[in-house]
Amino acid sequence: MKTALTIAGSDSGGGAGIQADLKTFAAHSVYGMSVITAITAQNTVEVRSVQNIDEQIIQDQIEAVFDDLKVDAVKIGMLSSPSIVTTVAETLAKYQPNHIVLDPVMVSKGGHRLLAEDAISALKEELMPLADIITPNIPEAEILTEQKILNELDMKSACISFKKLGVKSVLLKGGHLSTDPNDLFYDGENFYWVKGKRVHTKNTHGTGCTLSSAIAANLAKGNTLLTSVQLAKAYIEVAIEHSLDLGNGHGPTNHFY
Ligand code: PLP
Repeated sequence: MKTALTIAGSDSGGGAGIQADLKTFAAHSVYGMSVITAITAQNTVEVRSVQNIDEQIIQDQIEAVFDDLKVDAVKIGMLSSPSIVTTVAETLAKYQPNHIVLDPVMVSKGGHRLLAEDAISALKEELMPLADIITPNIPEAEILTEQKILNELDMKSACISFKKLGVKSVLLKGGHLSTDPNDLFYDGENFYWVKGKRVHTKNTHGTGCTLSSAIAANLAKGNTLLTSVQLAKAYIEVAIEHSLDLGNGHGPTNHFY
């Protein structure tokens, strides 16, 4: 059985975070494991409060998994604080997992911060170079590369900036542009457009979490990075097309359409 580990925050509403990641792993027939970094009290409308998990317990969870179980791929999501970023980076460095997918989650759709502002430099310096691929959206890429991204040409130049920051490869998600949601994959040498079509729905909660964990699941199954990205993009598009009208806010994507 292929396996994947998510290191991320819990969403009590079940649409994003750890819950979305484990559903995505299950939908790919990959055995899922989880290290919880923070607990959010959340539904489809809002994040009400956040409790960070003690760094020692985060380290213990990672060690407990790696000391006993085989881990074919790791997905990293919400990290919340600078010391959690450092704990995750230092503990993972000891185990050198085969594949690390880093979703540099910063702010929820409702505007709640999921990564403290003073954690951004630790994320850039300690964790981004460890990852095999990072999956920023445009607002996240603008903060991380300190440049405006207004069109597809700017997306290319942001990818090159990521390489200068020591990132191995990037899937820069284009969904925030007004054009079609075409994502740009850059492996440090070549650019590949992973094209998408816009699905008009308000029910898009957890899309970023689902996409990055689908990449991890496909890597765990032995696919190349490019194939994993393409398969994950196809999966998220259909999961959004079949998204669930649950709750009063942004309903979740449908992992088992
Ligand atoms: N809650 C948690 C725990 C998350 O990890 C994320 C995104 O990664 C979100 C919420 C944000 O989800 P959305 O962008 O759909 O609001």
